[in-house]
Amino acid sequence: MDRHILLNPGPVNLSERVRKAMLQPDLCHRETEFAELQNSIRTNLLNIYKLPKDRWASVLLTGSGTAAVEAMLTSMVPDDGHVLIIENGVYGERMTKMAQTYGIRHSAVKHDWSEAINPGKIGAIVKKENITHVAVVHHETTTGRLNDLSMIAEACKKENIPLLIDGVSSFGAEKINFTNWNIAACAATANKCLHGVPGTAFVIVRRDLINKTNASSRTLYLDLKNYLKSQDTNGTPFTQSVQCFYALAEALNEFKEAGGWKMRQKNYQKRMKIVRDGLIALGIQPLVKEKECSCVLNAFHLPKGITYEQLHDKLKKNGFIIYAGQGKLAKTIFRVSCMGDITENDMRRFVSCVKEMLMLQSKT
Ligand SMILES: *Cc1c(COP(=O)(O)O)cnc(C)c1O
Repeated sequence: MDRHILLNPGPVNLSERVRKAMLQPDLCHRETEFAELQNSIRTNLLNIYKLPKDRWASVLLTGSGTAAVEAMLTSMVPDDGHVLIIENGVYGERMTKMAQTYGIRHSAVKHDWSEAINPGKIGAIVKKENITHVAVVHHETTTGRLNDLSMIAEACKKENIPLLIDGVSSFGAEKINFTNWNIAACAATANKCLHGVPGTAFVIVRRDLINKTNASSRTLYLDLKNYLKSQDTNGTPFTQSVQCFYALAEALNEFKEAGGWKMRQKNYQKRMKIVRDGLIALGIQPLVKEKECSCVLNAFHLPKGITYEQLHDKLKKNGFIIYAGQGKLAKTIFRVSCMGDITENDMRRFVSCVKEMLMLQSKT
């Protein structure tokens, strides 16, 4: 199969270095070599946002990003807690489904998918009701909107309510101020902005807050406390995805050498500017204002007279994989992400390819 440039929001194109890392010797997850691998990943994840080890911990899971979010919600909200879930897209709504599934006491603040979160509304609810946690998606991948966590944190500050963050598509490429935003936990994954392979996900937790929760285990497999205890003593409760760990460890080395999250953000911004400016010049309109978008993914209205399938299939023939809208946006938008081991030149070729398609269409 030919190599495709993946412009979908994960999994991403791997560097050769990361791919080769998976070929290291077979390894038992009960051996000291595995413990060293696990420890190095845990440390390097904390180092990305300079989080001190005595106050923060990374907990590694085998699963996709959803597993990490589910582990966070089920493990951080105590039995007598009440989580306020903010929705403005698929992933916020998914958190509400999780709370329903596990019978976690929750309320949802619904926003339209096109809307920015209204911090005033959040502030009013947390003041009135007995909310213990606020759960919110940082980068809502549904639309490419980067939710303003500093405003939400500000609204929760007076009541001292900590945030539970779905940072699956922002961790490693956007600013996350763990301390100022009063974050209790942040869920993320190896195969988005960190450029690892799918199979490893993780939650960054504040040690004092996870220990304080007293949540009785709602799930056996996703119990973060159980993982934390085991990983702090060089263990793992269950078999981990060893080859994915190899890949993540290498991806984190590469990440650090390349200059950390700020450089990754810069690179994504440059790539996204090429796509955004290029498509706008072709008359294709973005869904969300530039200053409200993440650097990771932008959504665009489909050009007139072209269906998503037509656009997708033509681009795929030319080596590019774009991503459809979800739910009510499925027929009207397409999404372009710029994560992974790809180049600015790939983005230019992508724009040319769209241009060619539009020119052909205008002739018929
Ligand atoms: C990708 C993503 C997830 C998790 O998706 P998986 O398919 O389980 O990896 C969760 N939240 C957001 C915001 C995402 O972009």
